[in-house]
Amino acid sequence: MYEKVNGEINTSAVHVVDLRSDTISKPTPEMREAMATAVVGDDVFGEDPTVAELERRSAELLGKEDAVFVASGTMANLIAIMVHCSQRGSEIISGDNGHTFRFEQGGPAQIAGVQASLIRNNSDGTFSLDELRDRIRKNPDCHEPYTTLVIIENTHNMCGGKVLPLDWIEKVKNISKEYNIPVHMDGARVMNAAVYLKVPVERVVRDVDTVCFCLSKGLGAPIGSILAGSKTFVDKARRTRKVLGGGWRQAGIIAAAGLVALDKMIDRLQEDHDHILQIARAIDSLRSDIFKVDLPSIHTNILMMYIDRSKVAVKEVIYRLAKVFKNDIVKVSVRASSIRPDCVRFVTYWQITDDDIRDTIDRVTFVLKEFDDQFKSIKA
Ligand SMILES: *Cc1c(COP(=O)(O)O)cnc(C)c1O
Repeated sequence: MYEKVNGEINTSAVHVVDLRSDTISKPTPEMREAMATAVVGDDVFGEDPTVAELERRSAELLGKEDAVFVASGTMANLIAIMVHCSQRGSEIISGDNGHTFRFEQGGPAQIAGVQASLIRNNSDGTFSLDELRDRIRKNPDCHEPYTTLVIIENTHNMCGGKVLPLDWIEKVKNISKEYNIPVHMDGARVMNAAVYLKVPVERVVRDVDTVCFCLSKGLGAPIGSILAGSKTFVDKARRTRKVLGGGWRQAGIIAAAGLVALDKMIDRLQEDHDHILQIARAIDSLRSDIFKVDLPSIHTNILMMYIDRSKVAVKEVIYRLAKVFKNDIVKVSVRASSIRPDCVRFVTYWQITDDDIRDTIDRVTFVLKEFDDQFKSIKA
């Protein structure tokens, strides 16, 4: 429809700002340099010094005994679940919007053979503590599975990058400990949480037994996640990684980028948070009938723009933000994504500059006003 009205434009001439995800971030020049010169060895033999260094530094940063470098966040979570839930007939307790449940292909069921007991997530990524206590199988009889793990997510992806309150995490731990159940944090973006809270990440993960985080998202590394916990846990995790095909050889080449990520990319995350807030404020200031943001809930580098679905579809908005036509006043293409049917998601990372944010605000303002005007003219 837009093509007919407006005519196509040569997209190669248009400035593209890609805010679909922070996974899009590319390695920094310093990472490339470190990768090119990395000292490597066979990591399955435990002989890659760069991998060993990344694991040691990560464990130290997280305040855990040990850590293991794995291919992805999905693999880290699956390994954690397999190690914690090695007993057959296990059940994990998690929020219903948790990444491990929603977006990991049912790996916990498919591969680990574990059943999930889901508690409805609140909009801030937490869930009811009373419900947690109720769900835990206390002395399970022969009809019941064993509760073997509680999983929490920080920052919470489906909840728009929200940071879990530290006192809530402590309460989760206290309840779980009463029944001897470990807690795992899917901390894909836990460094963003630490930066938001202005505390060392060690404090954020203090009350969980195990935690993983992604080097390949806002931290900019090309590949890889870290899974950390006790020495005993990590020994088992290393073994489980191997059966999943995750034993790797000269992985120091990518671990070298991970080390740069730890040194250089954590403190600068604040810039990504500032950028996303600028976009959010611009949307908020439009006072649109269709598009809403919840400013106080924007903590980190993810922005959920809520859409009145009775007026416009998410797909249409994403299309219009990205597709630039000859008659458009703002000739910038903004790429966004959606992981829920009621919002458009924007995510910032190190390559997104102040100029990109200005262009994004111009484009978003232009497109949202167009939708608002269209809707008003339909109503009139
Ligand atoms: C991205 C993400 C993962 C998975 O990480 P991959 O490296 O993409 O497999 C896990 N949990 C959360 C919360 C995430 O955002």
